[in-house]
Amino acid sequence: MSTVSDSLRAGPGFDLAALDPASTPGLPPRRRTRPDPKSWARAELAVLGTELARQQEMLFAGVKSDPADRRRVLLVLQAMDCGGKDGTIKNVAGTMNPQGLRIVGFGPPTAQERRHDFLWRIRRALPDAGHVGVLNRSHYEDVLVARVRELVPARVWRARYKEINIFEKELVEQGFALVKVMLHISYEEQRRRLQERLTDPAKYWKFNPDDVDNRAYWDDYQRAYADVIERCGTGHAPWHVVPADRKWYRNWAVAQLMLDAFQSLDLRYPPADFDVASERKRLEHDEPGRSIKVNGR
Ligand code: AMP
Ligand code: MG
Repeated sequence: MSTVSDSLRAGPGFDLAALDPASTPGLPPRRRTRPDPKSWARAELAVLGTELARQQEMLFAGVKSDPADRRRVLLVLQAMDCGGKDGTIKNVAGTMNPQGLRIVGFGPPTAQERRHDFLWRIRRALPDAGHVGVLNRSHYEDVLVARVRELVPARVWRARYKEINIFEKELVEQGFALVKVMLHISYEEQRRRLQERLTDPAKYWKFNPDDVDNRAYWDDYQRAYADVIERCGTGHAPWHVVPADRKWYRNWAVAQLMLDAFQSLDLRYPPADFDVASERKRLEHDEPGRSIKVNGR
């Protein structure tokens, strides 16, 4: 486990309000991040990305060669509006092979989704074994926006923490490595990012007037996030809170968390289930219309 993961894990007594969204926990000391931390982190992200792609391939290959292998990695991304979920997906998940990825975003539940319990749509969005899943928002919206905007009675959202913990325990038992990440931005940084979306016409499409309304509920959301982290940060599925005002730090930190999740699976390329030497020989001497038999094949 890397020191980055250790410093970002929200253990008992974690205080969200005390974490500076512009801080950079786990970043090596300045003399090691020369010329400057930003360029260092960007270069390091490229290195991490190459390794993430290799790990993802080993995960995929393992399940292909052994269908009993049910392992997979699931990144659960939560954040306030403009928190950087899309940028994280682009920069971190983007280092991996799209064929092995399943990325699903969640908005307000559709009419069909509302006919089921809140975990129904999440279960349907989970990655197959051997794949990497990303949830862009998740079941946690049902104890965040649902609570803050009073979409359901308090007794309903209160009961959900326990349901979530049971659900996630099941996932871990089925072979999921869960990476739960809250991207933590400041109120001021959210303002800047919303302003940017109103300044650049190419960003209008990202702007939603509701996001400005939601700012009035900032403190309520922070409290709801703090409760999520306290109640659903478990030994098998801990929460990580990534200070996200600095995009270069955020990308580097989430890549590091993903790498730790892969490494916890101790992945290897599967051994050949055929005789490598005789297959080589067959291939060397074959011709169209005539296949070579070696060792009876
Ligand atoms: P975005 O991530 O910008 O596409 O926005 C998605 C919106 O859907 C956010 O405002 C979320 O709060 C909202 N949303 C996601 N899940 C739920 C849910 N379970 N109930 C109500 N609103 C939700
Ligand atoms: Mg939005």
